[in-house]
Amino acid sequence: MMKENKEPVTKSESVSFIEQFIIDDLKEGKNNGRIHTRFPPEPNGYLHIGHAKAICLDFGIAKKYGGKCNLRFDDTNPVKEEIEYIDSIKEDIRWLGFDWEEREFYASDYFGKLFDFAVDLINRGLAYVDDQPADVISEQKGTPTQAGIESPFRKRPVAENLELFYRMNEGEFEEGSRVLRARIDMTTPNMHMRDPILYRIIKSPHHRTGDTWKVYPMYDFAHGQSDYFEGITHSLCTLEFEVHRPLYDWFIDQLKTNDYRPRQIEFNRLNLNYTMMSKRKLLELVQEGRVNGWDDPRMPTLCGLRRRGYPPEAIRRFIDLIGYTKVEAINDVSLLEHAVREDLNIRTPRVFGVLDPLKVVITNYPEDKVEEVEIINNPEDESMGTRKVPFSNEVYIDREDFMENPPHKFFRLAPGTEVRLKGAYIIKCESFRKNEKTGIIEEVLCTYDPATRSGEHASEKKVKGTLHWVSANHAVDAEVRLYDRLFNHEDPAGRKDDDYRKFLNPDSLKVLKGCKLEPSLRSAKHLDKFQFQRLGYFCVDYDSKPDHLIFNRTVSLKDTWAKMNK
Ligand code: ATP
Ligand code: MG
Repeated sequence: MMKENKEPVTKSESVSFIEQFIIDDLKEGKNNGRIHTRFPPEPNGYLHIGHAKAICLDFGIAKKYGGKCNLRFDDTNPVKEEIEYIDSIKEDIRWLGFDWEEREFYASDYFGKLFDFAVDLINRGLAYVDDQPADVISEQKGTPTQAGIESPFRKRPVAENLELFYRMNEGEFEEGSRVLRARIDMTTPNMHMRDPILYRIIKSPHHRTGDTWKVYPMYDFAHGQSDYFEGITHSLCTLEFEVHRPLYDWFIDQLKTNDYRPRQIEFNRLNLNYTMMSKRKLLELVQEGRVNGWDDPRMPTLCGLRRRGYPPEAIRRFIDLIGYTKVEAINDVSLLEHAVREDLNIRTPRVFGVLDPLKVVITNYPEDKVEEVEIINNPEDESMGTRKVPFSNEVYIDREDFMENPPHKFFRLAPGTEVRLKGAYIIKCESFRKNEKTGIIEEVLCTYDPATRSGEHASEKKVKGTLHWVSANHAVDAEVRLYDRLFNHEDPAGRKDDDYRKFLNPDSLKVLKGCKLEPSLRSAKHLDKFQFQRLGYFCVDYDSKPDHLIFNRTVSLKDTWAKMNK
């Protein structure tokens, strides 16, 4: 029943500063009109909504300007990387709607070339083996306003450097005992240019190259050259890499055999309030059991958002709305939720679901009678048609739609008042039964007016309240999981003096059992999405089975947080 290929109403037409660079480069005929980008994830965790910003840009630009986008795994650290992550990254990119075709590459594809390049740098006196431990090297780096100190190994003869580097790669030395460094300049204000480390010793096997290597290139020594080897024309990355650019350029200068070089353009990261995006911390949440895995619907991971019921179109829409700039900012997670609502509004059928059931008995409706009432699937879109919903003498309504002593302007059900059951009849509350011990209302007794059935021949009678309902004899039981923000602090991970765990929202998951849903939902499949009328958007969880339906609430109908914070 879900609708595909629909565009929500709001649209942005402007071109980002990055696109403007691309347009200019094309106009100037750079790279013979070639546009080639890449998305370079490190396979050490699951992708999150922040990565979506990079993915939409890298793949989006290529698509829009007739170019190509490579998927390149930056697998330079064998210790933290796993196949599980590679598979999940591929699944998530496809789900977002992008395709790298046959261009799946790995930085490890270039380990041989990079090693040769390092040897070349040594031969040219531009790299040396440093025997000092990491903390000493880091101390000698100085500060941006204070020059660094040259390593005592900086003037090591070429032959000795070569021999040591090869022996490092033979596994002769312990991890951490030696590194290969570039010999650039220990006095330049750019800290990244102060003889950066190029290679370190790691003895763990690599998921693709096994035991071939005992030295591994640093990310900075692999990234720019990998772009160059793949013919990347535009290397789009986040702002923190701006200060690395001179180093990448220096490497390409040393490597260069022709006029071509990738153009690096930096943009602002996606930061969301009430969310943390660090892969390391997300891994902690998973490992410490604070969430139920990487795809827990409260996680900002793409697999988590997918399970929560976020459509990929809504994520793309949100990324489009926030745009790309040169200024770091924190985006409001409400805007993401707004994009999700806007998308689900046009895409999902409306159905009836009762989360906290209260039985209503219609005393003047024949006990054995069942009527099929016709309900519009989506008032925003006639083409989504109608469906039949059974109506009988006993229905469930949501408990909060009835009040024994209602306040003024309560237009729902109360003793003596009338409401319409959506798509069916107007009913009037005649009395109710209350458990005197517990004070809980167990049943509401109503009468219905046969002349008020929704449709062409309904009487003119009007009431102020319309309720959703489910026929008690036909309802299917379901478990419904209500999610709220995982953190109750705007910037949970941004406070140095405080642990983010302190800001975990204790009410981020509420499980409701015994919810009653209209029978059409019995056949709903995993990830099918619906609007439960008046309640919000819901989606079928992976754990759902035909005899035990489980729905996740994707998002409520309105932004309740915005209201509460006012
Ligand atoms: P790590 O700290 O492990 O490097 P990372 O978030 O940078 O984490 P990568 O796998 O290196 O993870 O990221 C792949 C690409 O996604 C990079 O080009 C990076 O710039 C981009 N990216 C990561 N996080 C964000 C974000 N929050 N907003 C926009 N782009 C991001
Ligand atoms: Mg990174």
